[in-house]
Amino acid sequence: MTISQNVREILGELPDGVRLVAAAKTRTVEEVLEAIQAGVDIIGENYLQEAEKVHSVIGDRVEWHFIGRLQKNKIKKAVKIFDMIETIDSIEIAREIDRRCRQIDKKMPVLIEINSGREVQKAGVMPEDAEELIREIAQFENIELKGLMTMGPRFGDPEDSRPYFSETRRIFESIKALNLPGVEMKYLSMGMTNSYCVAIQEGANLVRIGTKIFGEREYRQRDAWTV
Ligand SMILES: *Cc1c(COP(=O)(O)O)cnc(C)c1O
Repeated sequence: MTISQNVREILGELPDGVRLVAAAKTRTVEEVLEAIQAGVDIIGENYLQEAEKVHSVIGDRVEWHFIGRLQKNKIKKAVKIFDMIETIDSIEIAREIDRRCRQIDKKMPVLIEINSGREVQKAGVMPEDAEELIREIAQFENIELKGLMTMGPRFGDPEDSRPYFSETRRIFESIKALNLPGVEMKYLSMGMTNSYCVAIQEGANLVRIGTKIFGEREYRQRDAWTV
């Protein structure tokens, strides 16, 4: 199967209202372009340098979502190319995004990453701390809070991901019901190659898919987020 065929197959099976983010880490410009030509309109990137390289060729004909770990010293550059940052889990990072966006007169849509497995070594805010963080970030003028994101396990039985997704959905609905000023609970970003079908059943409307579009990634040290 080619990248184009994979994209068409996935787009064909996604229900209305569910958007595909092509997770493009380690992929070449050519591979990303093939996915775009087949209908992908959101690219997810984990590494700023890699994103800058691909973005400099492809430009703004697609949306760019940051889906990796954002370091504070990379934010100034990141806010220039990204249209959404999906992985906010601290007030410090949000404050820096707000500050850097103010300098370039931009409002950055963001998602709050939930540590739905409550694993200390994993990224994301603990479920019980999400509301407080969201209330604080909602105050920032150059940030638009647009929803939640979570990872869940990458391998294993897709059913093992379901509790992570249903927990994140529960938080999504409870925050939505608060009708907080400055908060629009619109996007729920959950599910990867092995789990996106379960994620959609649990309410995801953004799915981040890499392997099923582009094939297996070569193992690289910096891909160690998977372990
Ligand atoms: C790589 C990545 C994905 C896609 O993973 P696949 O299993 O290759 O589909 C999704 N989300 C994030 C945050 C990623 O880093």
